[in-house]
Amino acid sequence: MANTKPGKNKLEDKVAIVTGGASGIGEATALLFVENGARAVVIADIQDEKGQKLAESIGKDRSTFIHCDVTDENQVQSLVESTLQLYGKLDIMFCNAGICSLGKQTVLDFDPDLYEKLFAVNVRGVALTLKYAARAMVEGGVKGSIICTASVAANLGGDIYTDYSMSKCAVLGLVKSASVQLGPHGIRANSISPGPVATPLMSNAMGMSLEQVEKAFESTSALKGVLKVKHVANAVLFLACEDSEFINGHNLIVDGGFITPG
Ligand code: NAD
Repeated sequence: MANTKPGKNKLEDKVAIVTGGASGIGEATALLFVENGARAVVIADIQDEKGQKLAESIGKDRSTFIHCDVTDENQVQSLVESTLQLYGKLDIMFCNAGICSLGKQTVLDFDPDLYEKLFAVNVRGVALTLKYAARAMVEGGVKGSIICTASVAANLGGDIYTDYSMSKCAVLGLVKSASVQLGPHGIRANSISPGPVATPLMSNAMGMSLEQVEKAFESTSALKGVLKVKHVANAVLFLACEDSEFINGHNLIVDGGFITPG
């Protein structure tokens, strides 16, 4: 049972699903949820080997990997149903799976095919996971917390990642609507907007090693040092637990005070 520390029980008895949980922000958050006493964390991802390894490292009694492509409605429905069968309820849904732009697009060379592929994961996928999580919470009478990953790119725009910025704006709109519609059921919906953080997503997009990406991000924050996945995970934990019990429809920016290059 690696990665668990006694004495932190912010998520005692809670059952959580983390999509995109095999890597980067999702992985760090899944581990932090376990550290904070979550009864179970379901890791949902398309990277089976990485996801299975992570779930095994946490321990069979507290974690399960479930293959789920968030763009596929049947798979998302079955992810939530399997979680309910395994653990009896769902308290926390972290809709985090996302991809970066598949090409460099300014508005002048906007590519509708690439946009559709990106929106399938970043928007359709988030809306589907939110939908089935919310249904489970409403039907189960659970006063749950749903957190979706947006990005600072939603507010700042992007120089070459136009469709990515568009997709993250859509996440903000989805979360606002969810907060209004689910609030009366005692279910909260919030988003986090991380600044640039070195993860495989960025490493692939920039064609650099994780170390090189981290170096490249050194001057993007007003605070000294670089944003790490643990900083983002801490913000997700806050939104997941009762410390944020009256926060609903909020977009929590985690960027150390973002400085745009130039
Ligand atoms: P990551 O690549 O390390 O993790 C993303 C995970 O999502 C991967 O494990 C991947 O397999 C999974 N995934 C991709 N498509 C999927 C699908 N169709 N179904 C299920 N899982 C899928 O990247 P990350 O940086 O940790 O990204 C997590 C989230 O954070 C994304 O939504 C991303 O847009 C957002 N974000 C990242 C940054 C950053 O700088 N890294 C900044 C702002 C927002």
